[in-house]
Amino acid sequence: MTSSDYKLFKAEGMREAIAMVIAATGSSGREPQQVADNLVLANLKGHDSHGIGMVPRYVDSFLEGGLKVNQQPLSKIDAGPLLGLDGQAGFGQSIGEAATDMAIARAKEHGVCVMGLGHAHHLGRIGHWAEQAVSQDLISIHFVNVLSRPTVAPWGGAAGRFGTNPCCIGIPMRNEAPVILDYATSMVAQGKMRVAHNKGEEVRSGMLIDQHGHPTTNPSVVVVEPLGALLTFGEHKGFGMALVCELLGGALSGGGTWHKTYQGENKVYNGMLSILIDPKRLDQDDHFFKESEAFMSWLRSVPVAPGFDKVRIAGEPEREAMATRSKDGFPVDPTTWQEILAAAEKLKLPRAGVEQAAQRA
Ligand code: NAD
Repeated sequence: MTSSDYKLFKAEGMREAIAMVIAATGSSGREPQQVADNLVLANLKGHDSHGIGMVPRYVDSFLEGGLKVNQQPLSKIDAGPLLGLDGQAGFGQSIGEAATDMAIARAKEHGVCVMGLGHAHHLGRIGHWAEQAVSQDLISIHFVNVLSRPTVAPWGGAAGRFGTNPCCIGIPMRNEAPVILDYATSMVAQGKMRVAHNKGEEVRSGMLIDQHGHPTTNPSVVVVEPLGALLTFGEHKGFGMALVCELLGGALSGGGTWHKTYQGENKVYNGMLSILIDPKRLDQDDHFFKESEAFMSWLRSVPVAPGFDKVRIAGEPEREAMATRSKDGFPVDPTTWQEILAAAEKLKLPRAGVEQAAQRA
């Protein structure tokens, strides 16, 4: 498959098409549009792995009873700056937004909020939640575990034991764009391997092992049987972060950790520990923004190394992708698109209507 096989879609039509599919699950009110907007935004920000390509998985999870529509976070612990919420297997896109709104309100009241959110269905791009908090001038720290097939091997292990456990930190600035550091603790997100597998592409070495623990560049080893595993980033260091995400995002959030054999279900639950801090309340002598921005200027003054066009700050690649893709559209490979249309059909939604909506500019 070559890039000329991809179709370019504009955000507006695709938002409508995806909302139609989500609504066909019985999801109602704002929810179908919330899910669609969140997924399309992930594509616009360059993270196709967490965009509309997730829809077939969500539909299968819904049909199996793993994903529940029209849910709200259930408050289990409510003690000032401490919130313990259960996501009730609801769409991560709506549960995540509601939970983050609650955490923002607490952080504004108390200067800090520590929120555990367990049992949300897939929360998508975790940077989305950091951006929501950062837009309210709050620092936002997230540790997340993934309850689904354990695709990532511990450092020194030859098989998957945990998920791609992302961590994310958002830091607001006054006169600069915010820092949004947001990544999987695996070398690469599992969804990116699905995208590469669908495109028929090899990936670079050092990311994957096959079912015998040998290095491979074939992304299919984490998509179809026989299964190998993803490696963590930074060898033992990434493994340590993944472990912490499992313990804080899983054990402390109430969502639980992964410790069983995978049974083939499509559901994917995330547990998330979020820590929101109001920097103005912790700041001594109004230092924080001035010092942060002085450091940013210092960083930007660095000479650029051979082979690089510039030094980027976390969050910048997503803003660059957003600028280009909002204008030109974003690419969807034919396999992913056919899977989305097939998912619509599983919900008795004619594919022609979805295709027509998606093609609207
Ligand atoms: P990635 O490897 O693309 O890294 C993204 C991070 O690195 C961003 O903060 C980005 O701004 C920064 N970055 C990228 N290029 C840079 C450069 N040249 N210079 C400086 N900074 C740069 O991300 P990933 O690990 O593939 O994760 C992709 C998405 O998947 C994330 O949004 C993550 O939250 C999401 N994810 C979600 C789950 C889940 O279960 N919900 C699981 C894993 C990952």
